[in-house]
Amino acid sequence: MAEILKIGVIGAGQMGAGIAQVCALAGLSIVLNDIAEERIEDALVQIDANMGKLIERHQIDDAARQAAMARIQATTDQQAFADCDLILEAAAENEEVKRKIFMNVCPLLRKDCMLATNTSSISITRLASVTDRPERFIGIHFMNPVPRMQLVELIRGIATEDTTFEAAKGLIKRLGKTAIVSEDFPAFIVNRILLPMINEAIYTLYEGVGTVDAIDTAMRLGANHPMGPLQLADFIGLDIVLSVMQVLHEGLADSKYRPCPLLVKYVEAGWLGRKTQRGFYDYRSGTPIPTR
Ligand code: NAD
Repeated sequence: MAEILKIGVIGAGQMGAGIAQVCALAGLSIVLNDIAEERIEDALVQIDANMGKLIERHQIDDAARQAAMARIQATTDQQAFADCDLILEAAAENEEVKRKIFMNVCPLLRKDCMLATNTSSISITRLASVTDRPERFIGIHFMNPVPRMQLVELIRGIATEDTTFEAAKGLIKRLGKTAIVSEDFPAFIVNRILLPMINEAIYTLYEGVGTVDAIDTAMRLGANHPMGPLQLADFIGLDIVLSVMQVLHEGLADSKYRPCPLLVKYVEAGWLGRKTQRGFYDYRSGTPIPTR
């Protein structure tokens, strides 16, 4: 089985930064890439700050932080992927964007380099089909926030070979996380169940059944969820919630997955949740204030 020692991460957003952090702490070399220079800079600041918190909690020491930071090479130049064992794509949840990324990156890679996507919902088989190596392509779906969440979904495309699957399983074990296998159906397992629940919470708000505060309090205290569904939606990012619902709606052709019009409106307004400081809550004052 090919061992993965060097990983190229495409997309230095919430997920890419988290993936780079856990992999670097596990001793892997990382090339962290984004089209936007400032996203890479923000990601490095975020990773360093997160590791600072781990030091405060005595989970790592400063030597581990420094060694991990030194293992992360941050660059907008994808030529740096030339000696990677795996490319893990964590860019925007948009099929066209992901297809272009994979088509452009393949010629830069070693022939035996594996490819993975962190997509929340898009078909692994379809994405694999635009590459020159569908047998080395797999879905590795981390949960947010990556450093804290134990689960990783592994999704094989129709052509994914056993050696690719075993190498991905070995990587997740090395990161100390738990892998489960999902078949390649829209949104896989976690989001197939979770996102329609969040969409229903937004319908509950849209129809005036309850306020943001009532809905979140109801699910925290009435269903023992650690976070209310609207708070969780803001945390995931409303653009991502919308695109997963669209993939479920189109992919399964069932009207029960139709995205709530209020969700569409928030995304159109650019109120995408925590990452833009406003979503179902307004975070600009430091204390989250419901926006409805
Ligand atoms: P994000 O918006 O925080 O980050 C995406 C990054 O990708 C941005 O920095 C953007 O500049 C970069 N990017 C866009 N096009 C690019 C390109 N062509 N080349 C290089 N970089 C490019 O998004 P995110 O929340 O980190 O999500 C990333 C992926 O992970 C998506 O596919 C999403 O569905 C998936 N995911 C998200 C979550 C979540 O809760 N946010 C959970 C699991 C999986």
